[in-house]
Amino acid sequence: MPRALGVCCQPGCPHPAHSRGRCHTHATLHDQQRGTRHQRGYGTEHDHIRQHLLNQHTEGTPCIRCGQPMYKATQHLDAGHPDHTPASRGGKANRLEHATCNRSSAGAKTGEATECLDSE
Ligand SMILES: [Zn+2]
Ligand SMILES: [Zn+2]
Repeated sequence: MPRALGVCCQPGCPHPAHSRGRCHTHATLHDQQRGTRHQRGYGTEHDHIRQHLLNQHTEGTPCIRCGQPMYKATQHLDAGHPDHTPASRGGKANRLEHATCNRSSAGAKTGEATECLDSE
């Protein structure tokens, strides 16, 4: 006898499978989780852009914010947005910058951002 099909694949859930091996409750939960991950927007596409930029990155290219060279091998580099089109207004990341510069960009503009050597 094959082992019982038609039971929810969620461990410990005794309910009959309704859709894609899950009971109605767990199928709905699963879809919601997938949905919200995508809807957050800052997930897959942003990661994809960042990866693309990293692939194109030439080691030592200066950071647009602090002017210090960027090394993807030893530093954490983030994908940054042009100042006039922030992510909140639909702008897409189109360049790399130090993670430290990217995250402090709200306040500091130029000058004091020389602490980019993030020793992660
Ligand atoms: Zn279930
Ligand atoms: Zn920088």
